[in-house]
Amino acid sequence: MKAEETPILIAGAGPTGLALAIVLQQAGIPHLLIERATERCALSRAAVIHAHTLEALDQLGVTEDLEKHGLALDRFTFRDRGRELTRIEFGKLPSRFARLLMIPQNITEDILERRLVELGGKIWRGAELVGVNPDASGVTALISSAEKHVTVRAQYAIGADGMHSLVRKASGIKFDGAQLAETFALADIVADWPEQRREVSLFLAEQGMLVVAPLPDGKFRLVAAVDQADDLPGLDFMQSILNDRGPATRPVRIERMEWSSRFHIHHRLAEHYRAGRLLLMGDAAHVHSPAGGQGMNTGLVDAFTLGQMLVRVIGNGAPDAILDNYEAYRRPAAAKVLALAGRLTKAATLRSPVLRAVRNAALLSIGHTHHARTMLAMNLSGIARRRFAPDLHALPL
Ligand SMILES: Cc1cc2nc3c(=O)[nH]c(=O)nc-3n(C[C@H](O)[C@H](O)[C@H](O)COP(=O)(O)OP(=O)(O)OC[C@H]3O[C@@H](n4cnc5c(N)ncnc54)[C@H](O)[C@@H]3O)c2cc1C
Repeated sequence: MKAEETPILIAGAGPTGLALAIVLQQAGIPHLLIERATERCALSRAAVIHAHTLEALDQLGVTEDLEKHGLALDRFTFRDRGRELTRIEFGKLPSRFARLLMIPQNITEDILERRLVELGGKIWRGAELVGVNPDASGVTALISSAEKHVTVRAQYAIGADGMHSLVRKASGIKFDGAQLAETFALADIVADWPEQRREVSLFLAEQGMLVVAPLPDGKFRLVAAVDQADDLPGLDFMQSILNDRGPATRPVRIERMEWSSRFHIHHRLAEHYRAGRLLLMGDAAHVHSPAGGQGMNTGLVDAFTLGQMLVRVIGNGAPDAILDNYEAYRRPAAAKVLALAGRLTKAATLRSPVLRAVRNAALLSIGHTHHARTMLAMNLSGIARRRFAPDLHALPL
């Protein structure tokens, strides 16, 4: 049987696969986007889109819609129970998108998918990549769905297939790192807590850290480091965390819990982003703690950058060697994100009273230093990593 042909096969229609497909579709580059799941994941997961990601997404024509459905905030505050230690301001960042845009990942994916469809693109759902064999001139991929098994021949296969990426395994690229000791409990809740809707708070308490982030539609995201938790943490469990770690002066009652989850953290970075005809993006290339909300954001900028390079190679006949720049740009960005998320997680999960006192003193001092606060805002927003998503107009057409 003759294989179907496509220049670019994208495995995985999570946020990064969708973003790459939009870039290609905008440029009129044919591609095949496959997704193992028959329906889009309805879980809220990543809750924030940062300024630098919005700068990239603006070129995909989705920021207006994202802003319509999101909640814009301008501050992230470190607190010891009720006491403010440091406030990081995002409103004055040197960006058109100087804000934290709170929006659940399922809504973000919804908006990306709508944009792809509006441009005439599509997702082949229920189609699983089950084999990838690269050679010097391309890739032969085996795809399995309920209706058929097909062989696809592509010039490049892109692994946007998440942490357990088959593309990465087929490439032989190492994914070194470790699973960390911390367990995290997450929940999206409804609570009557008007003053908390102005900021994302990181509460640092003796029992561990708690992030409280307002979401659109009056909800809040809670993320807490815990010793152990059920697969689906219950309302009473999350309420006790809120009581022990949140503001002591005004106890807050959870009215309703919409979603909860528990997960373990891995910190891993792919040794390379490219092996010949195979390329990796998003969680297939980097995973880390949710501290600072960087995971999806980094993946979306990967997709934008790789997309621009593929447009030049496939659409404009630029040399394949341009794609080597993708790893050179994006891997150092992920290394910086892993270091940032690691430092934040370590600082937020300290248990020793002495070390906690030292940390709190350091945060108070950062709070009094304009430069230190600005640098933290630049790093969290991704603006400090702009140089890793280059002005691609400088690349050969
Ligand atoms: C509980 C939780 C909370 C999180 N919180 C945050 C946060 O606050 N901020 C943040 O930035 N990030 C957060 N993240 C991380 C964020 O969700 C990921 O970084 C993001 O989803 C990665 O996108 P992706 O497209 O690379 O991979 P995924 O979203 O994992 O998508 C991969 C897709 O590939 C598909 N797939 C896999 N294998 C195959 C195959 N063989 N064939 C076809 N399809 C395949 C999967 O079905 C999936 O749809 C969180 C994650 C979790 C789990």
